[in-house]
Amino acid sequence: MVTGAPFGRARKGGTISRTGKGRGPSGDAPHDTPPPGTGAPDLLARLLAAGVSCRANDNIADFVTPQDLDAMEAEAERHVAGLLRCLAIDAAGDHNSTDTPRRYARMLVREVFAGRYAPRPALTDFPNARKLDELYAVGPITIRSACAHHLVPIIGEAWIGVIPEERVIGLSKFSRLAQWVMSRPQIQEEAIVMLADEIEAAIAPAGLAVVMRAKHLCCAWRGVRDGGQMMTTSVMRGVLRTDSTARREFLSLVAGQGHG
Ligand SMILES: [Zn+2]
Repeated sequence: MVTGAPFGRARKGGTISRTGKGRGPSGDAPHDTPPPGTGAPDLLARLLAAGVSCRANDNIADFVTPQDLDAMEAEAERHVAGLLRCLAIDAAGDHNSTDTPRRYARMLVREVFAGRYAPRPALTDFPNARKLDELYAVGPITIRSACAHHLVPIIGEAWIGVIPEERVIGLSKFSRLAQWVMSRPQIQEEAIVMLADEIEAAIAPAGLAVVMRAKHLCCAWRGVRDGGQMMTTSVMRGVLRTDSTARREFLSLVAGQGHG
C-alpha cells in the first residue's frame, strides 16, 4: 500500500554512570544528606548528585540495584505507616489496615510503578524478510497507569498501527512495551509519546500510529467525579502522519476493533 523513508530519531539519555562525576554515595553534594528521621540511604539524593533524571515517568533501571529496591520498599513501608498515622488511622489496632503499609509499598515498587525500576522488556526484532509494507493495527492493549498529579489510576486501552520498514517485532511485544511505559506515574499526553518513541527506537517503522483512550480516576473518584469522561490522545508519525489515506485506514481498523 504505502512505502516511505524511515523517520527514526536518536534515543535520548541513558549515558550517565552510576556514580556520575566521580562521586560515590558518600560524596560531598548537598543532596547527599539523607532526610532527617529516615536512617536509610537516600537513593534520590544519590541519583540526583550523579545527574540522573528522576521525574515520575523516568525509567531509572540502569541506576538502581535489587538491593536499592529492597531498601526502597522497606523505606516506603515506613512512610506509608507514617501517612496512616498522620491521618489518625490506627493501623496497628485495625485488622483491615495492619498490613496496609507493607502491601501498599510493595504494590508501588513491584507493580504499579515498576516501569520506573525495571529494564525495558527484551524485544527480539526480526528482519522484514518478505518486505511487508502493509499497515497492521494491534489492539486493544489494556493500559494501566497512575496520574502523576494525584497518584490514582488511569485505566484504558491503546491501539498501535505500524507500516513496517526494515525490522518487525512480535505482536505480544507491543503489549509488553506498553505495560512497561505505563507502569509509572505520568500524564497521558506524555505517556503516549514515550510509547511511540520506544516503538520507533525498536523497529523504526515507515509509519507509526498510537491511539490511547483512558479513564482517569482523578476525574471520576475525586474532583469533578465524572465517571463517564474519557481522554483520547493520538500520535501519528512517518507515513501515517503525512498520508491521509493510510491514516484513515488505521482509524477504520481501530474502529473495527471496538474503538470509534
Ligand atoms: Zn490527576
